[in-house]
Amino acid sequence: MLSSSQRIGLRFCIDSDGRLIDSRTSEELNAMCRTCGTPVMRHSPNQFFQHADKQCEGSLFSELLERLSSTFIEIGHISLPITFDNSESTAQDVIAAEVNYEHSVIPILALTLTGGQLIYLSLRTEDYVLSHHQLKALRESFQSVIEMDISTLTLPSSGLTAYLRTQVVSESFINRCTWLALSPLAPLTRTIATLEANTLSKQKKQAEKELSSVQKHLQEAQTELRFSAEILDKVALYKSAEALKNERTHLIQQVNNLTEKKSQLESQIKNGAYSHEANQLASQVETLREQFRSGRRHVREIESEIDFARKNLSSVENQAIKKRQELESLDKKLSEVNWMTGFLSHINMTFEDFQSVAAKVDHAFNQLETLEKRIKSKNSNLVDLDEQLSSKSKVLSEAKSTVDFYSKQKFALFREVNQLREQLAEVKGGD
Ligand SMILES: [Zn+2]
Repeated sequence: MLSSSQRIGLRFCIDSDGRLIDSRTSEELNAMCRTCGTPVMRHSPNQFFQHADKQCEGSLFSELLERLSSTFIEIGHISLPITFDNSESTAQDVIAAEVNYEHSVIPILALTLTGGQLIYLSLRTEDYVLSHHQLKALRESFQSVIEMDISTLTLPSSGLTAYLRTQVVSESFINRCTWLALSPLAPLTRTIATLEANTLSKQKKQAEKELSSVQKHLQEAQTELRFSAEILDKVALYKSAEALKNERTHLIQQVNNLTEKKSQLESQIKNGAYSHEANQLASQVETLREQFRSGRRHVREIESEIDFARKNLSSVENQAIKKRQELESLDKKLSEVNWMTGFLSHINMTFEDFQSVAAKVDHAFNQLETLEKRIKSKNSNLVDLDEQLSSKSKVLSEAKSTVDFYSKQKFALFREVNQLREQLAEVKGGD
């Protein structure tokens, strides 16, 4: 993804006297590219420098290596692979780091490790690797060269140094690295070279072993393939012969069928087969009618069963209604009982107490009734006596009136007698 022509702002440039300019600390607006030596510029001091036209090929490497250089110095060590397949690594102290510029080649980072050992770090992008001439020159001067693959990186628009420190110079650093040259003069690279040689010979032996096994498998597979091809050929021939045979049998069968049909038709024509067909049809019709009749009977039976069931259902419904009414009345009684229970508990009385009180009340009522009866009978006696009394008084009053009448008569008679005596006396006196 990352290619050498990717456009990038230049932080580090040189002035016309060859002195280093850091964009972050300088006010300069014009400078020279450290890689190609052509003028670069910017519009304000807070920007990075840019080539006026097309960016030169080494600018990207220059900027990345400058930042890597400061990062290595800052963290003080580098993790280097010591085996062919990067499975093991060794941490080495970094004493110095400097980007080397030569105008004819792409910049390269020179790292000085403990004991003054020098290692060159080159970058690899999607479209650029260290040139063959440059590598040859380094090898001939017995230098160690390690190449870091950054082709999979996507550079951020800002915070590039921090990004390189966290994403590149981290634990995964050795997986990006490959040794291009190992110096026989420095102890570290000599050790690595020995390890590499051992690993490589082991790998070679393993590979040879695997190769011979693969070759053996290949031969076996080829033999099997030949054998299979022969079988397939035979099978194909056999299959086509079988298919033809089947086809022939099928055709013969069809001819036989047609012949049989023909003879049947001929015999039907001779024997007047139509009446036979009519008989068959009639019997089929009769069968169907019988089926229809039996079906209808069945339907009627089912209908009567349904009627019966309906009646049963209505009677059951009536019973259910009755039961429901009984249940409702029971519910009502139950609610009354409940009310009574509540009431009794409210007046702090048990049901047994209530029963005994009710029995006492009943008893009292019974006694009252008896007393009333007795009072009634006494009253009726009293009435009888009254009646007798009144009849006696009546008789008495009648007798009294009779006596009065006779008294009056007696009085009247006494008066007449007295008058008569007076008259008589007068008469006697006058004489
Ligand atoms: Zn340039």
